[in-house]
Amino acid sequence: MKGEKSLFTRIIEGEIPSFKIYENEYVYSFLDINPASYGHTLVVPKEPASSLHELSPESASELGIALAKISKSILEVTGVNSYNVIQNNGSEAGQTVFHVHFHIIPKYPHSTHQLTWDSVKLGSEDASELARKISMGIV
Ligand code: AMP
Repeated sequence: MKGEKSLFTRIIEGEIPSFKIYENEYVYSFLDINPASYGHTLVVPKEPASSLHELSPESASELGIALAKISKSILEVTGVNSYNVIQNNGSEAGQTVFHVHFHIIPKYPHSTHQLTWDSVKLGSEDASELARKISMGIV
């Protein structure tokens, strides 16, 4: 974002209007302007990080708390039992707004949104090595 305010920072600061759902010191939540289904909501940290791994521990933990609370209210209001929480990082992963955000998307019987993939092969030796390396990198 290099000095320029992101679209979501402008929404958080009230410069661009939004249908606000929730706000606290760390988190802002509002309806997605192009909903994949009725109730599609975005949950955004006020910290202007582009990707999830760049967030401070405080923002990351507050996001987790807010996601659970907001999801519960969306379920109650929409009456769905199923929903997807999606979070894209990087343009190749489908991110279009480079300010961390989680999508909460209610799944109705008629919903068309999909989240599927073809699995890749991973042998147990490679899996063991991969798990070891990733676990070593966690600080
Ligand atoms: P992503 O593709 O994961 O980066 O998602 C960006 C999301 O932001 C999309 O679902 C857009 O519909 C949504 N979006 C973009 N501009 C606005 C806006 N002004 N208000 C609400 N949602 C927006």
